[in-house]
Amino acid sequence: MASDTIFGKILRGEIPSDQVYADERCIAFRDVAPQAPVHVLVIPREPVVNLAEAEESQAELLGHLLLVAAKVAKQEGLNAFRTVINSGAEAGQTVFHLHVHVIGGRPLAWPPG
Ligand code: AMP
Repeated sequence: MASDTIFGKILRGEIPSDQVYADERCIAFRDVAPQAPVHVLVIPREPVVNLAEAEESQAELLGHLLLVAAKVAKQEGLNAFRTVINSGAEAGQTVFHLHVHVIGGRPLAWPPG
């Protein structure tokens, strides 16, 4: 059962997305407001609110999301990229369905804002 968020709606096919990857555990699609030439979101099919609320039983799923992030980056032709997981509103999380941002295609400054 997908979450009652905009990403839940994407998972249920109720709103469109520009999907770049899918498997039995997750999907990846382009961010609607890209912060770089490549900006993809990898989300689990099952509802996980954020990293803070992830459970030990979801350890394998979390690892899978990171491996898919790397796969998507390669698929997009990136040899350098950044992954970001905002957890909590004060950290910038706006959609409360766990997602891994995959960002690349331009030089990325550090530290982030
Ligand atoms: P965060 O602020 O870390 O929760 O990231 C949420 C991301 O979801 C933002 O980068 C938004 O631009 C993106 N976003 C929101 N709605 C959509 C949508 N319908 N399709 C694709 N990306 C979206």
